[in-house]
Amino acid sequence: MWVNNFLTNNIMAHPDVLIIGGGSAGIAAAAGAAETGADVVLLEKNTFLGGKATAAYVGTVCGLYYRNDDPVVRYAANGFPRVFAEKLQRLSDSSPFFYKHGLRFLPYDHLAFIQLCDDVVQQNKVTLYLDAHLMHVEKDGHRIHKVSAVIHNRSITFHPKVVIDTSGESTVARFAGMDTVENKTYQAAAQIFIMTGIATDDEQILHLSLLRSICKGIDDGTYQKHYDMLSVVPGSLKRSRAVFKLGLPFEVRNDPSEMTRLQLFARKAVTEIAHYLQIHNHLFKNAVLSMIAPETGIRTGPRNAGKTVLQKEDVMDCRKVGDAVARGTWPIELWAPGKKLHLEYFASNDHYDIPAGALQSASVTNLLFAGRNISASEDALASTRVIGTCLATGYAAGHLAAAVVRDESYEAAITTIQRSTFFE
Ligand SMILES: Cc1cc2nc3c(=O)[nH]c(=O)nc-3n(C[C@H](O)[C@H](O)[C@H](O)COP(=O)(O)OP(=O)(O)OC[C@H]3O[C@@H](n4cnc5c(N)ncnc54)[C@H](O)[C@@H]3O)c2cc1C
Repeated sequence: MWVNNFLTNNIMAHPDVLIIGGGSAGIAAAAGAAETGADVVLLEKNTFLGGKATAAYVGTVCGLYYRNDDPVVRYAANGFPRVFAEKLQRLSDSSPFFYKHGLRFLPYDHLAFIQLCDDVVQQNKVTLYLDAHLMHVEKDGHRIHKVSAVIHNRSITFHPKVVIDTSGESTVARFAGMDTVENKTYQAAAQIFIMTGIATDDEQILHLSLLRSICKGIDDGTYQKHYDMLSVVPGSLKRSRAVFKLGLPFEVRNDPSEMTRLQLFARKAVTEIAHYLQIHNHLFKNAVLSMIAPETGIRTGPRNAGKTVLQKEDVMDCRKVGDAVARGTWPIELWAPGKKLHLEYFASNDHYDIPAGALQSASVTNLLFAGRNISASEDALASTRVIGTCLATGYAAGHLAAAVVRDESYEAAITTIQRSTFFE
């Protein structure tokens, strides 16, 4: 498989499936493709796996369960997403959190998430490269034939049979000069951080006390008004340690210098907030800021143009389709800057189908995508981008990719996906 060209110091590889991005969707895609026997390479630009789930410390997995008030959770997908969630639950010593309006999600520990991703990759014999940055993509008509990356400061060229883009940013399409779809409405970014040594283990008390401190501080001018979108991540308070989320008050589009400015602002804001709480809130008197997520949480990036575009009506009407490869159960979750979370619910105890066409490029035969850059309208994506659904679309994309490698039609792969994940 490997050809080492000593003259150019450029290694070349010919994997069956090349996956760009080792977040929730990427590791699920790697598992899905590898279990068919495909030879899989996964490239991740960070030095650890998990994407937003670990680099932004998201903290809860949504989209795993149906929305209802039953005492026991009902999984939206069995097979890979469920097995992953149950292992994560054990490793995190956690359990499903019953939130309002029948919503349920799984709080997790981010180190457990990283460990589980490592296990998935190793158990499936996936060739993983960390610190691997996609640099160049070349198309030949309707096929991608060459992908280059810089890995630990070394250039590697791949000639894959299929590429799966799970970068969350439609990076492959952008590097190949293909059209992508930008969001019209900005979704507010957030900075997540952890504090330890909090003097309560009651989340409701913490929540109310935090609100009181913020309101009082804004009133008397000791707390900055634009730090008011601060909340406790539900289900995170355990052993005097809690995860907090600060909504960031201004809009940042895909401009690299603006992104950096946002990150610097977020870190400064968190330090100031922690200091304020230590002085002004008795629950935080002995608390310390123990961690600031390395990545500021940017919710959406450019989306891919697929054969099918999942629409808001598909989500709200719980539409079912024959080529379903994943199921969505999370409401449409919108974050306007400076405003509270807005959720649009569809019927409880029901789901909408995500068609295979939303994971297939409209114009390139060997390009698939999964996770938060699938082909969906911005409202539909505000539901599908949750981690549970990313695991499901990732796993499906892995199987669809294997069909392309074997030069088979998608029908058999779709049946396999449906059998392994939709059984009750
Ligand atoms: C602040 C915030 C809070 C959220 N809260 C929740 C929540 O509570 N529950 C929930 O379920 N979801 C939540 N989400 C959404 C969810 O975290 C993400 O949508 C989901 O994790 C996306 O998974 P993914 O695999 O599609 O993409 P990502 O997790 O973004 O993974 C993409 C991966 O690709 C890598 N990559 C990118 N470009 C390149 C490149 N050029 N070369 C190599 N690698 C590359 C990245 O480093 C990353 O690891 C939240 C998101 C944010 C931002």
